[in-house]
Amino acid sequence: MSYDSNNIFARILRGEIPCDKVFENEHALAFKDIAPQAPVHLLVIPKGAYVDFDDFTLNATEAEIAGYIRTIGVVAREAGVKESGYRILSNLGEEGGQEVPHLHVHIFGGKPLGRMIKPIDK
Ligand code: 5GP
Repeated sequence: MSYDSNNIFARILRGEIPCDKVFENEHALAFKDIAPQAPVHLLVIPKGAYVDFDDFTLNATEAEIAGYIRTIGVVAREAGVKESGYRILSNLGEEGGQEVPHLHVHIFGGKPLGRMIKPIDK
């Protein structure tokens, strides 16, 4: 899948659409999810134009990868969920349930999160 430079997160990165920003550095931008599914629900996106985790791990530089992953840790720490625990999640593609085609990692926290995913029907 080629990168759609008009996806909503690309537009947020360009400042065309507002977001509730919690952190920004040269590698990444973090902001509150518009439809939170936990008391803490943040999105961390890399500044580069990567569709998803697959694209990122194939094509990003070592510096981009290190910078992005470290930033996810920083954002979670600053959100105050390190002590209580949190979950990171990145959806990819149709079966992964990805809606926005710019790589993003969700950070969920602030309550017990339960099972990782629903068990499969046997
Ligand atoms: P995905 O399903 O692609 O993993 O997650 C996309 C997430 O982006 C969803 O949780 C959705 O609520 C969030 N989202 C979609 N549009 C916007 C927006 O314009 N602003 C913000 N802050 N979050 C958005």
